[in-house]
Amino acid sequence: MCIFCKIVNKEIPSNVEMEDDDFYAFHDINPKAPVHILIIPKVHIDSFNEISPDMMAKMTAFIQKVAKHVGVDKNGYRLITNIGDDGGQEVKHLHFHLLGGAKLMWGHFTDSDPKDFI
Ligand code: AMP
Ligand code: ZN
Repeated sequence: MCIFCKIVNKEIPSNVEMEDDDFYAFHDINPKAPVHILIIPKVHIDSFNEISPDMMAKMTAFIQKVAKHVGVDKNGYRLITNIGDDGGQEVKHLHFHLLGGAKLMWGHFTDSDPKDFI
């Protein structure tokens, strides 16, 4: 069982912020912004590549609720989902990073010059 499935099953503790029947939102253990929440489906889905459009529609509504609940919806926030090895996905259970609570620098997330890849 993957680490996020264990968190959903309460086998590993987490700092939960919100949950419903299908989704779970908890604080990232290594926050990169004043607000850094991870939002996951309770069922194991490897990555964004595998989520169905219907499930993603439900997840969108849940993410919007979390953003409101933690109070970042008005000032803005950033959503990131890393996909696979090139995307830098370390935990292979679909998760969205919700980052906010400060004006975020884009440079924090673009650590290479695209010209280096040509
Ligand atoms: P990613 O690199 O997109 O797969 O992100 C994985 C995220 O999970 C990282 O930001 C980690 O800090 C976070 N993380 C790993 N283990 C835990 C945990 N037990 N509780 C909360 N966050 C975690
Ligand atoms: Zn899992």
